[in-house]
Amino acid sequence: MTISFDNSYARLPERFFERQEPVPVKAPELVVLNRDLAARLGLDADWLESPEGIAMLAGNALPEGAEPIAQAYAGHQFGGFVPRLGDGRAVMLGEVVATDGARFDLQLKGAGRTVFSRGRSDGRAWIGPVLREYVLSEAMAALGVPTTRALAALRTGETVVRDAMGRPGAILVRVAASHIRVGTFQYFAARDDLEGLRTLLNTLIERHYPECETPLEVLRAVAARQAELVAHWMALGFIHGVMNTDNMALSGETIDYGPCAFMDHYHPGRVFSSIDQFGRYAYARQPQIAVWNLAQFATCLLPLMGEREAAVEEASAAVDSFIGVYQREWLRRMGRKIGITEAGEEDLSLIEDLLGRMATEKADFTRVFSALRRDPKAARTEFTEPMAFDLWREGWEARIAREADPAGVMATENPLRIPRNHRVEEMIAAAMEGDDAPLHRLLAALAEPYAEDARYAEYEAAPSPAERVQRTFCGT
Ligand code: AMP
Ligand code: MG
Repeated sequence: MTISFDNSYARLPERFFERQEPVPVKAPELVVLNRDLAARLGLDADWLESPEGIAMLAGNALPEGAEPIAQAYAGHQFGGFVPRLGDGRAVMLGEVVATDGARFDLQLKGAGRTVFSRGRSDGRAWIGPVLREYVLSEAMAALGVPTTRALAALRTGETVVRDAMGRPGAILVRVAASHIRVGTFQYFAARDDLEGLRTLLNTLIERHYPECETPLEVLRAVAARQAELVAHWMALGFIHGVMNTDNMALSGETIDYGPCAFMDHYHPGRVFSSIDQFGRYAYARQPQIAVWNLAQFATCLLPLMGEREAAVEEASAAVDSFIGVYQREWLRRMGRKIGITEAGEEDLSLIEDLLGRMATEKADFTRVFSALRRDPKAARTEFTEPMAFDLWREGWEARIAREADPAGVMATENPLRIPRNHRVEEMIAAAMEGDDAPLHRLLAALAEPYAEDARYAEYEAAPSPAERVQRTFCGT
């Protein structure tokens, strides 16, 4: 099979990346292939499942036209700047151009050591994080959230050691609109490489913001996309977990699924990530952190923006433009979650009142909103003190009496099924034993998360106290 590669990033100056072939693995075995996504990319799914296809997905054979590279980037990790991160365990094979002209990076995550590998790390991944990213990113896509995608997951037949334990090695084949991050700009800014910054900005404009002409316009457009993205996360109870600047893609896609999670019982201060000791990336802090990351991006653009003082002022205003877009988008989505087509400021207290009661009464985020769309009576049992919900319900019913089709609106905004942490953990535990049935069933259950489907009722259930997952791990 021929793949129509057009590797624009590999044509940039050599300092943007290192040429690096994937390091072959012992005995590749396909765990799951995303046939719909393959079709979107114009790839032949049957061929991808053949031994030659699997060899390509595992990095054991290079397809014609591929120009494998490891990208250079920097980044703030938990607030501390690291001038050189880069793809330490991922290799980009190239850019696939679909028949409609859309361009996608094809990347193998876990493809072996590169010059950017952290310390003595192995450049590999294991089956847990690989399947977690596969399931979470595909669930996000099905939920309608901009995200990188997963084309395939493979076992490598090798053992990877994490936390002093041998684990099955794996590779994720990731597809992204691009891998240009805030951290990519920081890499060149940290080196006072003006020429590099200019080239990178042009690349970003060409690829994602063709309507923009100046750095300031790009900054505003990036801020707006991030605002929409984070508002969407919030409306689904999603916690990214590691919003470091290297994990913020300028395409506006969700990227780098590490210790991320969907909340079960609602609390604004919720943190899952085992490495987030101080709650920097807690649920309710995500908008603020996005602004902080945007400010780092803005700082990189300043040298391209002309006279310093005026530039700082304009850039600050552009960063702050996130707030208005975010608030509008959050209100719109949260309004729709309770059946209001176009919520206004006057509806804010109704939404906040519900969230407050949910937090106090430990209500399950997804189940409360799915009950509202199906059978509001059922929502009350989600609250430790059901009266708390009854009191809110009176005001709510009065408000939605003025709406034409509240149930219809809620049905498009409130999913019935999300990748619940205990289900994800259960799926990983089975896959470690070589049983992939739970993975396939979970993927099937999450393919149409807004649609009623009695076959997958068990995936709607909240975890029992014993099943509740308190911590998620990066475990790269
Ligand atoms: P992350 O925490 O995934 O954003 O990664 C931070 C940095 O560590 C990036 O430069 C990664 O490429 C690198 N890194 C993470 N895991 C590994 C690994 N297993 N081997 C080599 N480098 C790694
Ligand atoms: Mg990262």
